[in-house]
Amino acid sequence: MADSNPERINFRDVQFLTSAPTLDECPEDSGAEVAFAGRSNAGKSSAINALTGNKKLARTSKTPGRTQLINFFRISDQQRLVDLPGYGYAKVARSMKDEWQRHLAFYLEHRECLRGLVLLMDIRQPLKEFDQQMLTWAVSGGLPAHILLTKADKLKNGPANNTRFAVEKALREQGLDTGVSVQIFSSTKKTGLDKLERKLGEWLALEESPPEAD
Ligand code: GDP
Repeated sequence: MADSNPERINFRDVQFLTSAPTLDECPEDSGAEVAFAGRSNAGKSSAINALTGNKKLARTSKTPGRTQLINFFRISDQQRLVDLPGYGYAKVARSMKDEWQRHLAFYLEHRECLRGLVLLMDIRQPLKEFDQQMLTWAVSGGLPAHILLTKADKLKNGPANNTRFAVEKALREQGLDTGVSVQIFSSTKKTGLDKLERKLGEWLALEESPPEAD
């Protein structure tokens, strides 16, 4: 049974582990991992920064040349955060997007230790094509997803909540709501940070080994 009150994880000591251009070069597929994804400018670096308090981590993912890599951050020996860079710059060639999509799909479908996907969307522009694609992969693979509607400080509470309801309704209508939760988030105001930490704690909880049989 899932632990309803998992141990709180300290995200403040998270450190950069490695970058991998393909799944073959990822760290060993063991323990528990949670991936963050979003279109460029969705607010992913800011969210990782708000969570970890480490500006350098988020910048790592933005180093030119690293943008198309899967970045791994270590929480503990058996727990990792993974930054899956999005795209959205017109500069990126179609062929490169296709290539990157193949790696993303492969990672989402084949990574055994992946416990969940945090999908970030600007609250003013939710559910774009990239987001729908990511959710389709997650839902079809039975991978739980948690949507952060970012930059919520740009809207008043009423409109922000209405957007959340509208997103939840759209997901239901598209059959993309199984195992998918939605929350409002602001890195600037730290809105929803606690809720995100609880979700990550739930996903990253390490199962205790069952007692040895006699
Ligand atoms: P990334 O490309 O997804 O990593 O996006 P960034 O984290 O770099 O954010 C893109 C832009 O949105 C930057 O100018 C940030 O300052 C801004 N931004 C990110 N999070 C927030 C937020 O919570 N509130 C506001 N007002 N702006 C934000």
